[in-house]
Amino acid sequence: MLKGIAASPGIAIGKVLKYENKLSLFKEKIEPWEIDEELQNLHRAVQDHILRLTELRDKTGREIGEKEAEIFDAHILMLKDPMFIESIEEKIRVGKNSAAAAVKFAVEETAGILKDVDDEYIRERASDIEDVGNGLIKNILNIDDGLIEKLNDEVILVAQELNPSDTARMDKEKVLGFALDTGGRTSHIAIMANSLEIPAVLGVEGLSKNVKDNDLIIVDGNKGIIIVHPSDEQIGEYNRQLEAYKMKKSMAEKECNRPCTTRDGKEIQIGANIGTPGDAEYAKKYGARGVGLYRTEFLFMDRNDLPSEEEQFIAYREVAEKMAPGPVIIRTLDIGADKSLPYLELPREQNPFLGWRAIRICLDRRDIFITQIRAVLRASNFGNIKIMYPMVCGVGELIQANGILQQAKDDLKKEGIAYDEKIETGIMIETPAAAIICDILVKYVDFFSIGTNDLTQYTLAVDRMNNRVADLYNPMHPAVLRLVKHVIDVSHRAGKWTGMCGELAGETLAAPVLVGLGIDEMSMNPLSIPRIKETLRRISFDKAKEFSKEVLSMEHPQEAQDACRAFLDQTGN
Ligand code: PEP
Ligand code: MG
Repeated sequence: MLKGIAASPGIAIGKVLKYENKLSLFKEKIEPWEIDEELQNLHRAVQDHILRLTELRDKTGREIGEKEAEIFDAHILMLKDPMFIESIEEKIRVGKNSAAAAVKFAVEETAGILKDVDDEYIRERASDIEDVGNGLIKNILNIDDGLIEKLNDEVILVAQELNPSDTARMDKEKVLGFALDTGGRTSHIAIMANSLEIPAVLGVEGLSKNVKDNDLIIVDGNKGIIIVHPSDEQIGEYNRQLEAYKMKKSMAEKECNRPCTTRDGKEIQIGANIGTPGDAEYAKKYGARGVGLYRTEFLFMDRNDLPSEEEQFIAYREVAEKMAPGPVIIRTLDIGADKSLPYLELPREQNPFLGWRAIRICLDRRDIFITQIRAVLRASNFGNIKIMYPMVCGVGELIQANGILQQAKDDLKKEGIAYDEKIETGIMIETPAAAIICDILVKYVDFFSIGTNDLTQYTLAVDRMNNRVADLYNPMHPAVLRLVKHVIDVSHRAGKWTGMCGELAGETLAAPVLVGLGIDEMSMNPLSIPRIKETLRRISFDKAKEFSKEVLSMEHPQEAQDACRAFLDQTGN
């Protein structure tokens, strides 16, 4: 039995499919008698890879567009270029390199020359060559990552790590669970697994090295446990739990559309966090009144260029219409850090979470920002849309963003295009800076939404993705809770409201404190809604207010958690 982090609830029993998105280490040098074999290996891989690229080319042409498909034509041509192939052959024959190493060196040579050229178009060809090289090396080493796009059987995906874009392109119907060596409870993979309702255990050190394809494993996303080669007894026990879990879920689902007020009548708005228009169905199914966080970045991922204003408008409008009259808070592009867009070529940074991300990118790339804002404004004519900026640290950013919003409004007006003139604007409070100066920021917004995932990371200086320091990552730390209180109080004094859309909003244990602090809205992954609603209905607001004062004076996160457990036990949870 292996212990990891319970990142997405549920149980999955199935066979392992190992996924590698990084090239593993491979042998570089060969003996003279291995030359022929390596040459054969190379030629087989080249032919296979041409076939694979041709398939991808056709699929892309059909599903995305001819323009996007052309990139694969260029890659195929490269593999048919005799000079390129000869230079690899020479590195095998003369240099006594393995086929994989020969490709690597040939690619480094060619790409290296191109990277020094002063023409941007030519420099970009260097990354095409690297792409082709990586694909070829994977083929030589029989690493087939294309497997996740079209799966024949149901599998449990085991990997060292998964990027959001890997998750976006995988065959979601066939993936029963995730088990990864890396990742934490609030990593974006965890968030995606939750919204896809796929059980996940993350941060299981060394797992991928210790399992093979087709090994039977159990992913217990409730307890954060992985069992490799389970006994018949364990399989029987987990099958029983799986059935019980399904039943409990369907009962909670039946209850979830009842209103959500505390025992003494205080209403809390419950929203859903979504990533795609399709998620709005789940949001409604599990009883969300609206969308408290629409992570628009997923619309920008898993593609080769930026989505147009029209494409974005269609997506935002779909969500607004599905949720109407409920509110939909659309967060503007929050890219960077662990969410990359290959076609934007974000620079490699030493500290990407402290670097060029979110609103910082949007204010530098106004073309991207204004296109998105126009799409949001146009969609606001079809429902109850609010707009929200991520990662704000200072008033300057907020004033600039609001200025761009105003410009987009003026442009639309001139063009005679309708939008909601009273559209509410808010910011995420996810940096300590924003929380501390929220009395200044509040003047420029209609609402706040506290993003505890990042707020915890930045306040406690704990990387939310780093398993080694996962124990230190605790949103119930008094520093975080005190910032939460400050933000809620300041917004109320200014006659504004504060919601929470970080993962803490979906944690049962935190519910009494958040309600007691006066949170107005809580937004979470749709699956958590029935459970949180049930908890809130048992709590008395008056008692929670008193209780939250006690909790805020506690010295240690564990003390706060224990007190919350005791409080909930008294209310029968
Ligand atoms: C947060 O930081 O709490 C948040 C909701 O944003 P994300 O998880 O997308 O960074
Ligand atoms: Mg965030």
